Amino acid sequence: MPELPEIQAHAERLGTEFGGRALRSFKPLSFTALKTFSPAPDAAYGTALQHVGHRGKYLLLEFETVRFVVHLMQGGRLKPDEKQSAKPRGGLARWVFEDGTALLLTEAGTEKKAGVWVIAADADLSPGTAVEPFVGLGPDAEALTRDELTAILQAHSMRLHGLLRDQKALAGLGRRLANEICHRAQLSPFANASKLTEGERQRLFDAIHACVAESLEYERSRADMSSSKERPGAVHHREGEPCPVCGDSVRAVEYVRYTVNYCATCQTGGKVLADNTTSKFLK
Ligand SMILES: [Zn+2]
Repeated sequence: MPELPEIQAHAERLGTEFGGRALRSFKPLSFTALKTFSPAPDAAYGTALQHVGHRGKYLLLEFETVRFVVHLMQGGRLKPDEKQSAKPRGGLARWVFEDGTALLLTEAGTEKKAGVWVIAADADLSPGTAVEPFVGLGPDAEALTRDELTAILQAHSMRLHGLLRDQKALAGLGRRLANEICHRAQLSPFANASKLTEGERQRLFDAIHACVAESLEYERSRADMSSSKERPGAVHHREGEPCPVCGDSVRAVEYVRYTVNYCATCQTGGKVLADNTTSKFLK
C-alpha cells in the first residue's frame, strides 16, 4: 500500500496538473465507490480545484465547497484519464473538469476496497474528529512533534513495528517505512514501544523524520507513483543482502501480509528474531 511519501508526492503532481480547473461532474463507476450521501458531490460543480493534499494515506481533492477524500488501498490509482472510455478497466470513479480533462480512480484486482468520501470543505481532519473516514486516525507522521511521539509510545505496550504501522496511533506509515525507520533508529522491530528510553525515543523521532523526508525526495523525482520494488532503502525486501551500515545480512520474519526486515547487528545486539508468540497464519 502506498505510504505517505508516495501519497504526498502524488498529491503535489495532481495539484500542479489539475489545480485551478473547475469541476464539471463527478461520476461513480462502481456502486461501492462513493461512501457518503451528504454533502452531494455536485456541490463542487463549477468550482475550482484549489489544492490536492493528504491526511495519512488519504488523498484530499479540495474544492471551494467540498473536499473529495480518496483512499487508494492496495491497488488503487488516481490518474489523468485521457481516454475517458465508458467502462474503464477497474474504474471506480471519474472527475471531469470544465476544460474536458478528467481524473480516473481505478483499482486493480477484484477486491474493491478503494473509495471516495465527500466531506465539507471545513470538516475537521484533526485526530479526535467525528468525520468519516478520519475517525480514530492518529496524527500525520511527518508532522509529529517529539512530545506527541513520546505520548504515543508510552500509551502503547506493543511491538514497535506494529505500532508504527497502526494508523490509529500515527498516520501514513506502512510496512516499508516501519522496517526502514526501525533500522535507521537502530531499534528492534519487536522492542516494546512503551519501554523505550529517552535516547531511543529521540533516535526513533529522528529516524521517522529522516526516512519520510528521504522517501518524499525520491518520490518527488518521479513522474508517477513508484512500485514498492523500485523504492530505495536499507532493509525492506532486502533479505540476504548486506546491511549498508555494517555489512551483516539483512534478516526477515515472515507474516502472511508483510515481512519484518532487520539487521541483527545494528538493531538487536545480534539476536535473531523469531515470532513464537502468534501463529504466522493468524497475523
Ligand atoms: Zn547493520
